[in-house]
Amino acid sequence: MKTITKDMMAFNKNSIDIKLLSNNYYKALKNPFLKEIVDQINLEDKELMKYTSMLEEASIEYENCSKCKNILECKNKVTGYAFLPITKYKKLEFGYNACRYQKKLIEDNKHYKYISLIEVPNELKNASMKDVYTNDEKRFETIAWLNKFILDYPKGTLKKGLYLSGSFGCGKTYLIAATFNELAKQKVKSAIVYWPEFLRDLKTSFTTDEFKEKFDKIKKVELLLIDDIGAESVTEWNRDEILGSILQYRMQMQLPTFFTSNMDIVLLENHLASTKDKVSTLKAKRIIERIKQLTIEQEMIAKNYR
Ligand code: ADP
Ligand code: MG
Repeated sequence: MKTITKDMMAFNKNSIDIKLLSNNYYKALKNPFLKEIVDQINLEDKELMKYTSMLEEASIEYENCSKCKNILECKNKVTGYAFLPITKYKKLEFGYNACRYQKKLIEDNKHYKYISLIEVPNELKNASMKDVYTNDEKRFETIAWLNKFILDYPKGTLKKGLYLSGSFGCGKTYLIAATFNELAKQKVKSAIVYWPEFLRDLKTSFTTDEFKEKFDKIKKVELLLIDDIGAESVTEWNRDEILGSILQYRMQMQLPTFFTSNMDIVLLENHLASTKDKVSTLKAKRIIERIKQLTIEQEMIAKNYR
């Protein structure tokens, strides 16, 4: 009887392993999706066969993608991504790659980083001038004004924003957010702050770094929308120190500032005059003067879309 040496055992084990690997690999290659992936890789079969199970996993995701019509019906493990191979220095690596729909989404949302939303719903980032409802002619004047702003602002001649007052739910916030989004595509930075909530927040966070950062941003950002002014409860401090100093700075630096409100400027003046303990018409007048310097006033009374 022959004695089997250690080397022979190793040789036999190795050849069995290689045979097994190659069998599995060529069997897997019968899958047309896997074959398509392999055809795109510039490596020899003897290298590729070490990765059969990974290639099989990739082929499932690749097949899902080839049949997919919409990112919402994505069947892959990570929505919008496919687990696929890439060659790096003649070695095969696998990773998650954005699919065609995800890539488009990333491209479409690139401008998001130019617009900061403070205490307002995130959906405003999707507000778009091309989706604006045009079924109510009472809104035309505002839409036209804003479209002109979008065209003219990048030329550097416009310094005034809009004080847009009007009925509840008629799209004041939406239209200005859509304007900022259009300009964000041209890398113009903007911020929208929901004024009543910002002031409520401020009471508890005034001394924190986070607040200072927000306050500074609001003061200095290129385009600002103070949303729903008039719905806040006025204190001497939030009117004179907070609102007053933001407006003062923006006036000096000629930074376009927008407002939306349910009140026109006359009503806003009354609102700003009365704090809990006293009525200060002069202080309110001073704020109103700044708003008038910063804006063109417009009223939009239109259908409620809520
Ligand atoms: P306002 O600020 O005047 O109270 P909003 O801007 O919040 O009103 O609009 C009310 C609702 O109607 C929101 O849900 C908004 O998304 C929707 N909306 C308003 N105008 C439009 C528009 N032009 N196109 C699409 N949706 C709109
Ligand atoms: Mg609003």
